[in-house]
Amino acid sequence: MTMYVYELDRVEHLRDWLALRNDVFQPVDNGLGNGSWEAIAHGEVAHFDPQLRPLVSPKSMFFSEQESLFVFDSETFATTKPKHGSQVLFGVKACDLVAISYQDKHFQQDPYYQARRQKTLLVGIDCSAPCENGFCRSVNAGPQVNENIADLILTPMPTIGGDMQGWWLICSSNNGRAAVSGMDLRPADSSWKSWREMNRRHSEAGFKSDTHIINGIQRINARAVPDEHWQQFAHQCISCSGCSQICPTCSCYTTRDLQEDDKYRRQRVWDSCQLEGFQKEASGANPSAEAGRRMYRFWYHKFSEDIALKMGRFGCTGCGRCETVCPGSVGVHSIMEKISNA
Ligand code: SF4
Ligand code: SF4
Repeated sequence: MTMYVYELDRVEHLRDWLALRNDVFQPVDNGLGNGSWEAIAHGEVAHFDPQLRPLVSPKSMFFSEQESLFVFDSETFATTKPKHGSQVLFGVKACDLVAISYQDKHFQQDPYYQARRQKTLLVGIDCSAPCENGFCRSVNAGPQVNENIADLILTPMPTIGGDMQGWWLICSSNNGRAAVSGMDLRPADSSWKSWREMNRRHSEAGFKSDTHIINGIQRINARAVPDEHWQQFAHQCISCSGCSQICPTCSCYTTRDLQEDDKYRRQRVWDSCQLEGFQKEASGANPSAEAGRRMYRFWYHKFSEDIALKMGRFGCTGCGRCETVCPGSVGVHSIMEKISNA
């Protein structure tokens, strides 16, 4: 579609406008240098930090950590599909938008996921610098927002003497354009494109070397890492499942049935391929009983070209979160270093 671009002095004006008709969520600093996705009501004075990339991705806004699927009352099954109002995710980084589009494909036929997703407007934000452990550039997931994923995109105007001059607001979908219709916005002149390109180049120049990532991807796909090496790497894994819980593209779940008086409720809850029982069959057979097999499976799913062919891209968006949370130092950078040298 034709992109309409406007000038914006303060992103908070846009957020407040969107909060008139929608529930708006944005990353909010928790005071510990991290953040989470919090609701911001219309009229609320809340600072928006364009650099803040929360440790928790917006995955759970669509794929709930725990939710009811149906209730059985001994005679009938009643689905418990969520009834969801319209919401806005405000300030989503390029890597997390790519993860959302990956999950959109995976959960295309899932009515629970779609009940939330179809009611959501995505406001993306271009990064001006790499985040901690991020390598989105190496896996084609950032640092600039892909116009085909977001509805609205915020891109920073250049700073003058250290002061921010404002933002350009790009309407990249019909829904995005409709959402700002009625707002008093100045159309941008054509210079925005070259400034946006300059911001992308400046941001990309700040990334550290990604040789270990590129080598690691090649070796995983060449099946060049022997099983005994995976088993050695896995000695550092304590099966906490932190990596898969935090990963914005992990989508595995299990179900459990709960009795509530004379009814039964089926719930689905996030699962993890790093847990020993994940693939255990009723017969007792377990193809991933060994920690090394589980570790191989996880990283194969993130970087395999076979899966990329099916899904249109690698399963890793380069957010670096697993490196930050892994207590055993086998997150993405550490493991790719090991794989490169195995
Ligand atoms: S594997 Fe790690 S770096 Fe890649 S998307 Fe998942 S959490 Fe982010
Ligand atoms: S976060 Fe690290 S220790 Fe925990 S399951 Fe993942 S690889 Fe293992």
